[in-house]
Amino acid sequence: MIRTLFSALLAIASMPAIAAPTLITPDRVWDGEAMHSGWQVLVDGGRIVAAGPNLTAPDGTQRLALPGQTLLPGFIEGHTHLLLHPYDAVPWDDQVLKESEAYRVARAVVHARATLMAGFTTARDLGTEGAGTADVGLKRAINEGHILGPRLLIATRAIVAPGSYAPKNDAWHVPQGAEEADGPNLVSAVRRQIGAGADLVKLYGDYRWRPGEGSRPTFSQAEMTAAVAAAHDAGRPVAVHANTAEAMRRATLAGADVIEHGGEGDAATFALMAKNKTPLCPTLAAGEAIARYRGWNGQDPAPPVVVEDRAAFQLALKAGVPICMGGDVGVFAHGENAREMLAMAKAGMANAAVLTAATAGNARYFGLADRGRIAAGLLADLVAVPGDPVADLTAVTRVRFVMKGGTVVRAD
Ligand SMILES: [Zn+2]
Repeated sequence: MIRTLFSALLAIASMPAIAAPTLITPDRVWDGEAMHSGWQVLVDGGRIVAAGPNLTAPDGTQRLALPGQTLLPGFIEGHTHLLLHPYDAVPWDDQVLKESEAYRVARAVVHARATLMAGFTTARDLGTEGAGTADVGLKRAINEGHILGPRLLIATRAIVAPGSYAPKNDAWHVPQGAEEADGPNLVSAVRRQIGAGADLVKLYGDYRWRPGEGSRPTFSQAEMTAAVAAAHDAGRPVAVHANTAEAMRRATLAGADVIEHGGEGDAATFALMAKNKTPLCPTLAAGEAIARYRGWNGQDPAPPVVVEDRAAFQLALKAGVPICMGGDVGVFAHGENAREMLAMAKAGMANAAVLTAATAGNARYFGLADRGRIAAGLLADLVAVPGDPVADLTAVTRVRFVMKGGTVVRAD
């Protein structure tokens, strides 16, 4: 059994893009923004060649029927940590301090495959959490076809203000889950991380200075503005971890490209974000997972922390803030990425808007003009689910077909 699976994996990993054009006929197509019954999609050379009704296909075209299924653009995970695994099995502190980089990378290889098989053909990985620049090698191994995984946007080590992050130890300074830098050194850290391979820069705009206390801002407005400017000079976007309204406000004014979490956001802050078109990545699924680890059964009434996250998310929706789909995967299991989609719907977002957030929306917010929609010329990153996910969003947890760059990596 194990041997069969292993040979199958090797075969898939070394499979070239399908040579002949392929005409895919599902029941319906979600193009990233709207549903179309009776559409087909023609793929060739790793790209989408055409999408629409009654397509004419060239001689020699392979035909692939997906009866009863909806074809969508490959999902884009907005917030993952492939080098972490669920905190209920091993607490975050112990992963950072006691697991070797080799062990963490070995597990990340499995996490990358699980992410792709769940239909996530692109993932924004927001920091290795103490595993150095291991994400650079992971991304390379995926891109070269040695292992299966999504197309990665990586942040390498991420940057925190000295003293603000974790793990904490009162006896000595222990290795931290991100690079510590501030003042003029902050801009140097941004540049070093970009030079080491970061596709984007991740800053922690606030954090709990000591365990058990609430979050407080870390970087000053001047520091944040300088860091974002240095990243933008290098053509890299910036993601800012911010739960407090003040850190969110500073990040928005600094020109940050996406704000992560936002659990304490207020109406004024969300109004500012909406005005500046700064997206929020709410990571509702991570808060829900942590509440479950503390005993919540997932039913209503939800514990206060979950209720507060949902309330902030609703304020953001009401203010018209662009919403990214990203669950902070790693807190919970890789491959269960769609939990964030269900959490967003549960918190009041329409199913169609959730699907857009996970496809065309994330592509737009992350500057990925070559994916996120089903349209001629874009990457042939496609996923199929049973039924109609607009009518029943839980379909996104039952992915049956995944194509990445024209290669079928899953067909149940
Ligand atoms: Zn995170």
